Order: sequence, then C-alpha cells, then structure tokens
Amino acid sequence: MRWFVRPGLRVLMYHKVSPAAEDEHTVNVARLERQLRWLRAEKFRFATLENVLRGALPERPVLVTFDDAYADAFEFARPVLRALGVPAAVFVPTAFIGQSSSWDRDPRPLMDASQLRALAADGFELALHSHRHENYAGLTAAQVTTDVREGFSTMQRLGLTIVPALGYPYGGRPRDPVARAAMQAALRAGGVRLAFRVGNRVNGLPLADPLEIQRLSVRGDESFGAFQRKVAWGKLL
Ligand SMILES: [Zn+2]
Repeated sequence: MRWFVRPGLRVLMYHKVSPAAEDEHTVNVARLERQLRWLRAEKFRFATLENVLRGALPERPVLVTFDDAYADAFEFARPVLRALGVPAAVFVPTAFIGQSSSWDRDPRPLMDASQLRALAADGFELALHSHRHENYAGLTAAQVTTDVREGFSTMQRLGLTIVPALGYPYGGRPRDPVARAAMQAALRAGGVRLAFRVGNRVNGLPLADPLEIQRLSVRGDESFGAFQRKVAWGKLL
C-alpha cells in the first residue's frame, strides 16, 4: 500500500545509534535500516543539504540528519547508510570534536576529525551545530556571530568541508520576534544559509523560511506505525 502523504520536504532528526538498546534519543541498527527501506519502498527520494540549498529537490524529498556527531553514529549508522546508498548530514558541535557530549546527562564519545573526514570522503555532509552546543534562545546576536565564526574556522582549520547550514541545539531560537530577526541577521551575515529547528512538521515547498526548517524527531521509544504517521503527516496537533 502506498501511503498518501502531505507534500513537502521531510527532514529526519536522529541522534545516537546502537547495535540493540534503544531510548528516546537512540535508535538501533535494525530500526534505522527498516525505516530507510520503508522510505525507499514508499518512493521517497533521499535528498542532501546541497539539494535544499540549490532548490534542486527530487520528488517526495527526505533529508536524513544526525545531531551532535556521536561516535556511535559513525560506527553503526554509517555502514547501513552506505549499504543502502542513503546520504546524510551531520550537525557538528565544533568545540567538542574528538571529545564527549558534556551537555548530556550521560556524556558519550563524539567523532574525531579523522572520523569526520572519513564521513566526508563517503559523501556525507557536515554542517554546524553551534560551536559549544549552546542554545541560541539564550544568546545575543553578537554571541551568535562569534559562535558561527568559531564553527566555520574550526572546520577550516581541520581541513573539513562544510555546508553553510546549522542545526539549532535543542531546536532553540529566541521567541521574541525582534531577537529572532537579529539572530537570523547574524546567521545570514555569518554565511549560514539553512537552519534547522525541530517542530515535527513537514515543510511546504518552496520553503517559507530557510532558517526555520522543521525536522521530524525520530525516537527509539516509539512504534514503527508512529514513525510512519509522523513521516506521512508530521504531528497532527
Ligand atoms: Zn545537539
């Protein structure tokens, strides 16, 4: 059965990947593979950040993203994505490359520069996730400017190619419209052309605001049916 789906761009947000155990922020290899195979069977086409930037999206586009550059995503997701020929983008908190996710209650190892280089060589895209994994809701525009500059310069120093896109840590942006506009101006001036929040909705095309792209959170603690419904329609309320 082909699902009837809302038209638009779907952006899937993953975090950690494991061989077996799952939780809200961790999917296992079997679930990831089943999800990607289902998307392909339903005639979704996998897109890249570059496709979004150029406005050159395939039909029924879906973009796969991983936040935080967890080392386990490198170890367990990379082989699945490579085997299925699915591209993905990784949002990297650049101050923590080769360290651990100190902002988590249970900090986990993060990819080092050579792992990020190997991903890039495989065709994965790298993008920003705030230099120090900070919530942009609490930063001034001047702090955002510095944060973005540090992110780009760190990647450049490590010889890593980056797409001018950013995943907001915690999905956070200022609620106040004036502060939000100032943050967006700082992002644009800093060279960021796409930014991703959470929101759990399908994005209409053309995009209403390329700095407010919504992502569907993929959880390890929900049923496959819940994943299918979220992909088809986004959140209903
Ligand atoms: Zn994060």
